[in-house]
Amino acid sequence: MSVFEELGLRRFLNAEDTFTSNGASCLGPEAYQAMREISGAWVDLLQMQRNTGEALARLTRNEAAYVSSGAASALTLCAAAALCEGDRDAFLALPDASLCRRREALVLAPQKNAYMRSIAASGATLRWAGEEGRPLTLEQAEAAMSRQTAALFYFVYHGAALCPSLEALARAAHRRGIPVFVDAAAQLPPAENLWAFTGQGADLALFSGGKGLAGPQDSGLAVGKRLWVERLLALGAPNEGLARGSKVTREAMAGLYAAVKRFVSEPESQRQAALMEKCALGRDCMERCGFAQVRIVAQGPVGQASPRVLGRPVGMDARALRQALRDDGLLVGYDAQEDALCFHPQMLTLKQTQTACRLLENRVRLWKEA
Ligand SMILES: *Cc1c(COP(=O)(O)O)cnc(C)c1O
Repeated sequence: MSVFEELGLRRFLNAEDTFTSNGASCLGPEAYQAMREISGAWVDLLQMQRNTGEALARLTRNEAAYVSSGAASALTLCAAAALCEGDRDAFLALPDASLCRRREALVLAPQKNAYMRSIAASGATLRWAGEEGRPLTLEQAEAAMSRQTAALFYFVYHGAALCPSLEALARAAHRRGIPVFVDAAAQLPPAENLWAFTGQGADLALFSGGKGLAGPQDSGLAVGKRLWVERLLALGAPNEGLARGSKVTREAMAGLYAAVKRFVSEPESQRQAALMEKCALGRDCMERCGFAQVRIVAQGPVGQASPRVLGRPVGMDARALRQALRDDGLLVGYDAQEDALCFHPQMLTLKQTQTACRLLENRVRLWKEA
């Protein structure tokens, strides 16, 4: 009996997005192999954190790197590290920040999103620069920086078009001794983003291990300055304190390392060609289904270089069709603005993409016959 049957689980093909609730991506064979290998023996976990970080830093062209328990927990840990500035007692009291000299995390109001709660979970008070939905000037951002500001958090996609550039913000923050942490959780591909944000001034850039990298779902990657990686090493699990519940297993470290190695070894043009090949299957399928305005868009839902296919079902309610596809075992996205289905094959193999297309075509045929 398979684990699907034993646990009563429905199997899906995920052509929607790297949503955690969908299980995000599937582990590649290299990651599986590394996890199996490391699981068969015991190692000094702190030494493994250190050595894995060194290897990941080399692969991602950064000074240093750290494996976290997902990108969200890296946000919490970065905020905690900034609050306590290396003071152990101050760290052990978190999320009570009363022993910290600087207690605020600066966030940009136009970028407001739910992941900011992971910053506040450290005990930091969120201080907002600007207003939601309104353009934010560099002067406004600078005016919000004070002696209370422990760190500035910048999100690569959310509301970034309304904000000053990361480079300008980082220069302004660094002039005041404020570190800058960049949430780039879903900003892969392209691989060059692994070093682009640190190149633009981020002290650390944070990525999900289980999204574009196709590593373990419970892993995350922080890359950047050695000082901050040292602080994360000193404060993160398995140390006691705030991050003790965000443990990073040797399987997660080995799996993420193998996934990153695989990810950066593939030339970007080859990765894009493979993504395009899958998109072309999706496009042809939507055209055979008689969808309107079928087209491939170059970017994923948060601007990453991950092409998708959009198409509007004709004579069918798009949302009802999406639900029917879910019942068939296929997850696709819905674009409310265009009332279109959105087919995002990043997570699928070529073969799975073919199966997904068959499911879509069959459902549409049954729908039209009914
Ligand atoms: C997915 C995501 C996260 C959380 O990443 P995990 O690795 O699932 O913890 C944080 N920030 C943004 C912008 C994300 O898209």
